[in-house]
Amino acid sequence: MKVLIIEDEKDLVRVLKRGLEENSFTVETAYDGEEGLYLAENFPYDAIVLDLMLPGIQGFQILERLRQSKKDVPVIVLTAKGDVEERVKGLNLGADDYMVKPFNFSELIARLRAVLRRHKGSSSSSIEIADLKIDMNSNTVYRGGKEIKLTAKEYKILEYLALNRGKVISRTELLEHIYDINSDPDSNVIDVYINYLRKKLDKGFEKKLIHTVRGAGYILKE
Ligand code: CA
Repeated sequence: MKVLIIEDEKDLVRVLKRGLEENSFTVETAYDGEEGLYLAENFPYDAIVLDLMLPGIQGFQILERLRQSKKDVPVIVLTAKGDVEERVKGLNLGADDYMVKPFNFSELIARLRAVLRRHKGSSSSSIEIADLKIDMNSNTVYRGGKEIKLTAKEYKILEYLALNRGKVISRTELLEHIYDINSDPDSNVIDVYINYLRKKLDKGFEKKLIHTVRGAGYILKE
């Protein structure tokens, strides 16, 4: 899952980025409204954490522009303490949730996961496909009741496929949602990770769950 943080308090951004990355998110950041809007309009994010008071373009304007251009990416706005009006305005403009500063990081993670799940049409924090179970709160994976240890990258790919279960996902889409803008991964890197995942998840099981769709990508299904 790739998250864009638009926030001008650099210390806060640093803490959020590190914490989110430790929780298997890929993170990109913008310190002002202009850059934030540019990134949000031009790159695919799974969610945006948006501060309202920004230099340049304000958070409200970013939200408004995104909703006008029919970008339905989930947005959590960060508001100042006690500012009920701001909060209401944010929700009216199409924010999915809000956090009041200063906030607790684990609450942000929980709310972020909740808006992501709602957005993907699921209410549960775990996904089950046949005897595969993915617990998105703890980032743990089980097959046939046994825990399977995955690396961070393997987990991210599996989680993305699972949230989009039954849909063919192209290599490009996987790359876009797993790597940040500054990394330049080899185009075959996804195939390499899919191979690792197959060895860990499908090998030795009669029912294969990861399928290749020639010329299109990968699909996770029974
Ligand atoms: Ca600010």
